[in-house]
Amino acid sequence: MTTIDPVQTDPVQTYVASQDFAMLVGGRLVEAASGERRDVHDPSTGRVVSSAPAADRADVEAAIDAAADAQPGWEALGVDERIACIERFRELVHANRERLAMIDAIDCGNPVEAMRGDIDICEPYFAGWAAFAKSLTGDVIPASPGNLHYTAHRPYGVVGRITAFNHPAFYAITRPLPSLITGNTLVMKASDETTLSTLAIGELYAEAFPPGVVNVVSGGATVGDAVVTSPRVKRIGFTGSVPTGLLIQRRAAESGHVKHVSLELGGKNAMVVFPDVDLEQAVEGAIFGMNLTVCQGQSCGSNSRVLVHSRIYDDFVNLVASKLDRYRVGVAYEATTDVGPVVSQVHADRVNAYIDSGVQEGATLVRGGGRPEGVPDGGHFIEPALFADVTLDMRIGREEIFGPVMSIFRWDDYDTMLDEVNGLDLGLAASVWTNDLDVAHKTADAIQAGYVWINDSTRHYFGTPFGGAKDSGLGREESVDELRSFLEHKVVHTRLGDARSALDRLLAPSR
Ligand code: NAD
Repeated sequence: MTTIDPVQTDPVQTYVASQDFAMLVGGRLVEAASGERRDVHDPSTGRVVSSAPAADRADVEAAIDAAADAQPGWEALGVDERIACIERFRELVHANRERLAMIDAIDCGNPVEAMRGDIDICEPYFAGWAAFAKSLTGDVIPASPGNLHYTAHRPYGVVGRITAFNHPAFYAITRPLPSLITGNTLVMKASDETTLSTLAIGELYAEAFPPGVVNVVSGGATVGDAVVTSPRVKRIGFTGSVPTGLLIQRRAAESGHVKHVSLELGGKNAMVVFPDVDLEQAVEGAIFGMNLTVCQGQSCGSNSRVLVHSRIYDDFVNLVASKLDRYRVGVAYEATTDVGPVVSQVHADRVNAYIDSGVQEGATLVRGGGRPEGVPDGGHFIEPALFADVTLDMRIGREEIFGPVMSIFRWDDYDTMLDEVNGLDLGLAASVWTNDLDVAHKTADAIQAGYVWINDSTRHYFGTPFGGAKDSGLGREESVDELRSFLEHKVVHTRLGDARSALDRLLAPSR
């Protein structure tokens, strides 16, 4: 690990351009076997600032070899020794907080202060997984008289992890932990759009874990597909979009083996606002829930659909607009920036096309949506857009944009509003805003989503199962459910014989 002088004037040079980034295979930092590397762009300027190994199937096979070789020894270590490795890893993450936050700001475009926060919020995950793993028990089941039935678990072996682009360091730190602590070894594929912090974290895994326990590869869809289709990878944890999730389920099946696949996918999350709310608090909640100052709204959990009762509708829209005016859009690694660029020009084009479609389909663009003033020419900046008068038949009202675009719907009739909330195939998260307890819980119960907040939004609480309903996912993370999902479960049945005659035989006087 390179030591970095914190007093620097050019973070791009210091944290990225002057550094080497390699993959981790079998405890060694390596290049792709082909020697190929792909350019890494800084979304704040559009400039090439580094490169990362461009792996192919041969590299994935080498990573799976290493993980398979290391697995029996890792499982044999026992949970306390595995926790000790995780504790060492935690210390290294802390020591590298500034470096990792800066890399994500430069490579991903998220504001650096938010990325420091991403490192800090890993803390409950380290302690939480250790506590769950220590308290993991089996069951004794009274299924029949005279027999003993008990459960036991075993790790799957080699696990594949594929992550999304929007919180790279956070995913690379937290997502492997439940699979590792249960005795699996890992092949993790970094996002091809935001690769560098995952590779830097690979260096920390190399220091903290035995060789081969964690392997990190970088590349695009071909590399992900090689992980998914390998017969030796029995369990896959995926975070990404619905189309890729569907493809992964299909490709996993085409490998000819039954694989256990968990999917954390997209959302078009509704925030439902009743007329009795404290307006100021609800508006702050709507903006906070968009994750604009964390990742430009590029979050699966963002409340990108806000359904506001008509009695407070105009005041709500006006207050959101005036509060959004206070945000400064700019270079992600400058301290004064509130909102950074989106991840790439391709993604900026996609978001801008949604903004155009909103105008064409009749929504009112209240503010934003253009290019902010004073930002670097090549950067992928979009002034946070606020749309009013949005309806479910508009693309901005029903499709995940994954960017700085908030769509506000107006409602009067409760049942019609609920039909709109539940009228999509997506069902990741939602929030309900009212001071009436009965209304809050009745509505939370009626909403088809995996994670529902009342008078709050977007926050995760380690230990509570996170995941999507409907097409937003399969399985639950961040909870004991996830820990158990990395273990195969087995029931052992013991037929107990007649103890009386066994005793008589055993204790009979010897001849
Ligand atoms: P994506 O689906 O484009 O890519 C995700 C990962 O899959 C990347 O690492 C990519 O390289 C890899 N990949 C692409 N094609 C593949 C293939 N054929 N086989 C295997 N791997 C393949 O998603 P993204 O653009 O990185 O992230 C945005 C999406 O992720 C949004 O839809 C967002 O809602 C979702 N997301 C969900 C959660 C959640 O927890 N539910 C969290 C973050 C992001």
